[in-house]
Formats: sequence, structure tokens, C-alpha cells
Amino acid sequence: MTEQLNQFQGAATIEKVASLCRRRAFVFPSSDIYGGLGSSFDFGHYGVLMNDNVKAEWRRALIQEREDVVALDSAIILQPQVWVASGHVSGFSDPLVDCRTCKLRFRADQLEQSACGRKPSKHPGETPDCDLTEPRQFNLMFETYVGPVRDDAARAYLRPETAQGIFVNFKNVVSSMRVKPPFGIAQIGKSFRNEITPGNFLFRMREFEQMEMEFFVPPDEAAEWHRYWIDARRDWHLSLGIRESHLRVRAHGVEELSHYSSATSDIEYLYPIGWQELEGVANRGDYDLRQHADASGTKLEWVGHEERYVPHVIEPAISVVRSTLAFLCDAYDEEEVAGRPRTVLRLHPRIAPVKVAVLPLIGKDTAMVEQARGLYEELRHAMSAEYDDSAAIGKRYRRQDEIGTPWALTIDEQTLEDGTVTLRDRDTLEQERIPIAGARALLEDRLRQDWRPRE
Ligand code: ATP
Repeated sequence: MTEQLNQFQGAATIEKVASLCRRRAFVFPSSDIYGGLGSSFDFGHYGVLMNDNVKAEWRRALIQEREDVVALDSAIILQPQVWVASGHVSGFSDPLVDCRTCKLRFRADQLEQSACGRKPSKHPGETPDCDLTEPRQFNLMFETYVGPVRDDAARAYLRPETAQGIFVNFKNVVSSMRVKPPFGIAQIGKSFRNEITPGNFLFRMREFEQMEMEFFVPPDEAAEWHRYWIDARRDWHLSLGIRESHLRVRAHGVEELSHYSSATSDIEYLYPIGWQELEGVANRGDYDLRQHADASGTKLEWVGHEERYVPHVIEPAISVVRSTLAFLCDAYDEEEVAGRPRTVLRLHPRIAPVKVAVLPLIGKDTAMVEQARGLYEELRHAMSAEYDDSAAIGKRYRRQDEIGTPWALTIDEQTLEDGTVTLRDRDTLEQERIPIAGARALLEDRLRQDWRPRE
């Protein structure tokens, strides 16, 4: 399959990407003025636009361009019985160890990726001073109470995955939409996990948006559809510009499988911190529908003219942040142009937060400003556009490079004479003159074209 490198190819480190994200209003540490809240982040203007593009591309591929997947948006707080039946109350936990010396807590299955509290160059348990407890199971669900009384009967959970909201709506969807297995239900929404060791910037957070799709199939087609969705999802990442050498598919060993899964493959991305799960594609079998049918007393099955069965389920599941972080790491580049350093995000144009910047060459020239404003106002109806007349042109280009804007249109003296503008390409730095009247159509066309990263 993919040529598998084990080293990230590119200029990105998590620290550099995080610093650019903060500097350029993609991501801010949350509650910053109060000292922050561990691994909690807020998204700034460009982060919001970029996350929206990631979600839009996911919806386009999974819903808009298919006839067999429908959308759903279920509640975050569900009836708590849902989480008992799904197995999350008893089984959604990670093994936790405490260090009696440094008082830190670690995931017992991730000691190799954690740093000792006293000697960060060592892993927990590796120094003579480390004194780790036996592992104990720690449930990752956040608890809350519904209503005014805080007792056990009122206890509820913030969902740790969006999938269960889909399973409990299976009957509603089947009886109200024209669906028949194989078909899918897709949803995007916030999930919450009280992770023991969040970190690596956006990679592991306690609050994150998931994009999940449950694809219901006849039982004897499950293995085939599992392979189909692994390939389809891998292709999605590639089509949006992730380098092939930075993607691989890894099947879970039996000991790694979640409580609901009969087979799972991770699509892994080579983040600057190493290969990590970007997306999971699980074969959940009939586990969830059977659990909810048993617990609720409602039949959850497919009834056709001549057949009746409990569908099996294939689930591709990814978070927006892991996808956004992979796009940012893949796109981050540093180079020297005309003796000056340039930082650029070589994002796929459809993922880039801003598609085009409109820049009057001289910000104080009234005629240029007027032309530029007119063009900007036309373009912004069609795509995310930005107008900037605030500094020397070189500085304005660099600013756009850093947020990954693929194209800039510059209005200069010649525009006033012949109605043409310069189109600057972020990646090649080439400048071509195009008629101002055709700019919108030209950019719309480029946005539809394939785009490949420079390997
Ligand atoms: P991990 O092993 O990294 O804890 P997981 O196997 O528990 O992840 P799943 O339950 O399969 O993850 O979740 C589906 C997807 O949701 C993951 O592939 C990932 O993209 C995303 N995800 C899971 N946990 C987090 C988190 N804490 N922060 C951000 N994204 C997450």
C-alpha cells in the first residue's frame, strides 16, 4: 500500500504549529486570562473557518454526494440508560496509575509516551524514585445532573461519542426516511472525555467535535463494507491534500479492540509526534442495536419483504480537531524567498480558511481602494475572501501565506488603465495578469480543480 516512512517529512513541529495558530487567530488557549484549563482550546476566526471547511468536506463526501446516508443531530445529554446499555458505564475506561512520588497520573497503557514528573527525559516508572500504584480503571465519562435535585436518580452523562445518539434513533430514521440497508446515518457534534493525559495541542482534548457515521448493512456484507469504508475514508484524506507517505492503515490486534468492536482499523497519520490514530473505522457488528433492543424493549431490526435481521454496523469516526491538526501539520512549511524567511500553510484550497485576499497595491490610493473594495465585495458572495490595505504589500502577502490563503489579487496602476489585476499563487509565487471581470469565475473554477501537495 503506502510507502511507510517513520519520520515526519516537513518543517512542522507541534510547537511551531501551535505558535502559528495562536499568532494568527486559529486557536487560543481556553480561559487564558485565568491561567487556562488543561488542554482546552478556543477557536479564533481562522480556526472556525477551517474547522467549518473540514466539516463541510466530510458532509459533502458522506451525505451530499451519496444517496445512502442521511443526517442526524442528536442531543448531547441522553437518557442515562443509553450509556448503561451501550456498555460505557461499565466499560468506557482507561487504566490509570498514580505516581506516589511526583503525584502525577498516567495512562498505564501509554507510559512509553509519557514523561516522568521529576525527570521528563525518562518515562514513568523508569527512575529509582518512581513509585507507581497498580493500574485501576478510570471511567472517562463526565457526569452531570439533570434537574434541581443532585441525587443518583438525576445523574446523567455528557456523551463520550456521538454514535449512541444514532443507534437510539435507528427506528425513527427507518420509519421516516426511504432507507434500506446498506444505509448510513451521519452526525457531527461535540463529545466529551475526561482524558487522563490530554495533550499534544489539539490531538487529545477533553471536549472535541466528532464526525461519525453508522453504516447499517446485512450481516453477511459487513466485512466487505468494512474494507470499503477504510478505503473510502483514506481516499478522502488524500483527496484533500494529505501526503500519501504520511498516511497508513493499521488493523487493531485482538487485545486492543473496544468492548463493542469485532474488527477495527485505524487510519493513522504521521504527526510530528509520530504515527497516531487520525480516524477509526470499526466493525461494530450488531452489538449496539442488540444492546439497545434488549435494554429498551424496542425491536431494532430491519424488516424487508422477505427478510428480517439486525443489521451490522460499520463506523468511520474521526474528530474535527485531529483532522484539522493533520491538515495544519501537513501544510506547514518554512522557506527562504529572496533572502527572507517565509512561513506558509500549503493547505488544500477547499480547506484553507480564506480563499482569496484582495489587496490594493497602495493602500492610500483612493482609485485603487475603490476598485479593490468593489472586487472584494463581489468575491465574498462566492467564497471566503479578505480585504487588506494595511501595510506594505510584501507584509500583506506574508500574512496571507501564514493563514494559507491560496490566491491574492492585487490592484495596481495598470488595473486603473486596462482593468486587469495580478493573481498571485501562494505555492508557486507566480503572478499572472487576469481581467478583473473574470476573476470570480476563474477562482471558482480553480476551487473545483484537483490539488496535490508538493511531496
Ligand atoms: P485513543 O486511542 O486515541 O484514545 P480512541 O480509539 O478512544 O482514541 P475512538 O473512540 O475510536 O478513539 O474515537 C473516534 C475518533 O475520535 C478518533 O479516531 C479520534 O479522531 C477522535 N478522538 C477520540 N478521542 C479524542 C480526544 N480526546 N481528542 C480529540 N479527538 C479524539
